[in-house]
Amino acid sequence: MAMDSRRTHRESAVVVGGGISGLLAARELAMKGLRVTLVEKRSHLGGAVGAHEVDGHVLDSGAESFATRTSDVAELLTELGIEDKICSPYDGGSWLYLQDGAHPAPRTGILGIPGDLSDPSIREILSSAGLRRAKMDKLLPASVGANAKTLGELVRKRMGQQVVDRLVAPVTTGVQSTHPDEVEIESVIPGLQAALAQRGSLAAASASLRAASPAGSQVAGLVGGMNQLSEALVRDVLRRRVRILTGYDAIAVDRDPDRGGWTLLQRAPQLGERVAPVHGKYLVMATDAPTTLRILGSHLDASTIPQVKAGHEIALVTLAIEQPELDSRPRGTGLLVSDQVATVRAKALTHATAKWKWIAEEMGPGKHVVRLSYGRGNDHGPLREVSLYDDQLITLAMHDAGKLLGVSITRGNLLGADVVRWKGSLPTMRPGHREKVQQFRNSLQDLEGVTAVGAWLSGNGLAAVTADTRRTMHEFIDATSAD
Ligand SMILES: Cc1cc2nc3c(=O)[nH]c(=O)nc-3n(C[C@H](O)[C@H](O)[C@H](O)COP(=O)(O)OP(=O)(O)OC[C@H]3O[C@@H](n4cnc5c(N)ncnc54)[C@H](O)[C@@H]3O)c2cc1C
Repeated sequence: MAMDSRRTHRESAVVVGGGISGLLAARELAMKGLRVTLVEKRSHLGGAVGAHEVDGHVLDSGAESFATRTSDVAELLTELGIEDKICSPYDGGSWLYLQDGAHPAPRTGILGIPGDLSDPSIREILSSAGLRRAKMDKLLPASVGANAKTLGELVRKRMGQQVVDRLVAPVTTGVQSTHPDEVEIESVIPGLQAALAQRGSLAAASASLRAASPAGSQVAGLVGGMNQLSEALVRDVLRRRVRILTGYDAIAVDRDPDRGGWTLLQRAPQLGERVAPVHGKYLVMATDAPTTLRILGSHLDASTIPQVKAGHEIALVTLAIEQPELDSRPRGTGLLVSDQVATVRAKALTHATAKWKWIAEEMGPGKHVVRLSYGRGNDHGPLREVSLYDDQLITLAMHDAGKLLGVSITRGNLLGADVVRWKGSLPTMRPGHREKVQQFRNSLQDLEGVTAVGAWLSGNGLAAVTADTRRTMHEFIDATSAD
């Protein structure tokens, strides 16, 4: 059946999860003429792409940019009619905060892997011995590291430990909340090992992947924030008559013996804890891994259910401050902090008013927004900053921000603050993850009328989620059209 033909009768579908992947899945189904119900546990839609208010300004509470290496997100924004809001961040680059202080981050590679070891900024970061070791990358045969299981192992084998500790770990822990020794290469940098085989060195491979992005920055944002994407998607699916149920917590799913298809059981606290069933011929799971696996698990062969953990907990502390010394953007768009630094607990700081012109214009001169993230993923028990109360985290963030940006920040500077906590929204892609995903997707073939999407299947980030969700939904719609 051709992709653009509409269903002749109004078949129904239920989508569980109202993040970007669930909204996109609902949109694709509605575009084919299905009657869609979308169920979201929280009171708001968009998942990790949301908004909050700080000092009267509406800012992103989660994702704040998208990767431009592929055109998937830009195409979606165009379809949604908000492409005119696309904006580039300030081009001054970011910094690294290491044990010996702040250094401009090299801008030649991808995810901290240097693309050009002759770049002068690298000499500021690596010792002479560390740099000599890194340069061995060019002399080693391409086969060295070809079988590496983790990103850390690959970088260590080709460029040495210092590159792992001082360049790559601050980026992966800051951005993905995971140490490079815990992440599967292909899940975080698709195509890196193929590029290494082709180009002969890791530096050349990293440079070639960076060059695949359009000139300038590797990311873009939206005026008004990435939350505009969620809003536009919600508007779009409502226009397509998708029924949206927020505050409904999906707990289980059963086959419907009478009508065929699936009945989703949900907890609806606002209806006095009643179980609220909703029926659909088709079911799309668009939640985190533990939820999708729990809900579908009893219908799958137990041996095919992968063990995938929820992502680490992250706390984002946003401070609105009056501090004119920050007008000069002392640390570019922000800093990523090495986990070997003992005097700063944040893993990253985004200087939002330096990075995004629209936020600077909204705040006005002398006023700034900084966002600090906590929760490295490898911190446990009492060492976890995320276990602090909001007020404690705000005080800690003021201390860390002052240290990272090299200015004084006290309560007197504070205009407003907010803490947003994310649990399970940034799944960890451990070695073997892609294989597990493939195995799970294969096992779904046996469940008639069911599919699953989401960051744990696609890889983290809006570019990966957008591309994978649309591809999966197109394949699903085509396959079920033959029913
Ligand atoms: C703090 C943070 C910052 C990020 N920054 C960026 C960035 O700058 N750029 C970028 O490209 N990516 C970023 N990402 C990653 C990106 O936002 C995610 O990969 C993407 O939004 C995931 O979308 P999703 O729909 O798969 O998952 P989610 O957004 O997690 O949505 C899943 C939804 O399912 C719902 N749900 C769960 N269980 C149930 C249930 N039982 N019943 C009903 N609903 C349920 C959840 O409430 C949630 O709304 C960031 C992520 C986080 C957490």
